[in-house]
Amino acid sequence: MIKAFKYRLYPTKPQLRDLDKTLMLCRHLYNAALQERREAYKKAGVSVTYYQQKRSLPEVRTELPEYKGIHSQVLQNVIERVDKAFQGFFRRVKHGENPGYPRFKGQGRYDSFTFPQAGTTGVKLQEGGKRVLLFGIGSVKMKLHCPLEGRLKTATLKREGEAWYIVFVCEVKPNPLPLNDEKIGIDLGTHPHFLVTSKGELVEAPRYFQKAEDKLARAQRSLSRKKRGSNRHKEARKRVAALHRKIANQRKDFHHKLARRLVNRYGTIVHEDLNIKALARSRSAKGVQDAGWAQFLHILAYKAAEAGRRVIAVDPKYTSQACPVCGHREKKPLWVRAFTCPACGASLHRDVAAAINVLARSGRVPDRRWARTEPSGMGTAWAVP
Ligand SMILES: [Zn+2]
Repeated sequence: MIKAFKYRLYPTKPQLRDLDKTLMLCRHLYNAALQERREAYKKAGVSVTYYQQKRSLPEVRTELPEYKGIHSQVLQNVIERVDKAFQGFFRRVKHGENPGYPRFKGQGRYDSFTFPQAGTTGVKLQEGGKRVLLFGIGSVKMKLHCPLEGRLKTATLKREGEAWYIVFVCEVKPNPLPLNDEKIGIDLGTHPHFLVTSKGELVEAPRYFQKAEDKLARAQRSLSRKKRGSNRHKEARKRVAALHRKIANQRKDFHHKLARRLVNRYGTIVHEDLNIKALARSRSAKGVQDAGWAQFLHILAYKAAEAGRRVIAVDPKYTSQACPVCGHREKKPLWVRAFTCPACGASLHRDVAAAINVLARSGRVPDRRWARTEPSGMGTAWAVP
């Protein structure tokens, strides 16, 4: 299976200049390749292929010496990106959609370049991962906050605001944990709980996260007071963007740790199926945080698959309304945290009751239909800067 590892880079000033320059040259090449395809298509109705464009790359490197400093495979990858954009375009046309023609990339709209065979050429780890040697850039300081695993496939250099990151994509062997019969249900809780388990565990988002969000709110207020186009406005906007990124990274880190803990402890984890639209309707108050939950469930599914654990998604209908002891159903307002069932007298935390219902529901659905052992994308280990 494929896994991505993202690390912060600390380039020197000259290295930073070279990284920015490489990005700019890749973007120009992307736009030129796009232009060539557009014109060929418009003038003669012919399509220029990936291979035709790839074959002309040595010529580009002879005629434009600044491209000699860039690894040939990085340039090939740029052509591949153009090809992918066109493939996506034609696929959508074929499906009867009306997609926009692939676009030119303006400055700030092109933020990465890739070494497609980093395992064999162009990229080399140094000093046990404290530095990484990049073709055309040099030896760059790197923060290896978690170990790199598996067989290295590609490396992508990515600019996020002022910061540079490297994302290694590796092939890792699944690492099954010993069998475990324990099952747990989770309810994606209401504020301040991120989730609540059927065993009564209330998990809150970490405190530093709250602090960062307060800081962001202050930065946003400060931004709104600055005059548009002024230097102060520009600075304030940068600060807001940096805080946004920081929060996104912290959230991801929290999701990884929580998913790891659940997967280590339980053989089967049952959660509400977020794809079922009823959820949005019946519990709209949760809507605000849905994106965060989708990411968490994605990470959970991935980690479970890697460890040979089972994750089951169930229809959430009525799980927040039924009494888990006697089944009595009653709509409760969201602010009622603890409730006592009028039918049987059971006294429970509302979200714990929901988690117990979620768990109980997994017994009634055929596993194959709900089991999500195949994650749809890749799990990612992200840096917290
Ligand atoms: Zn009851």
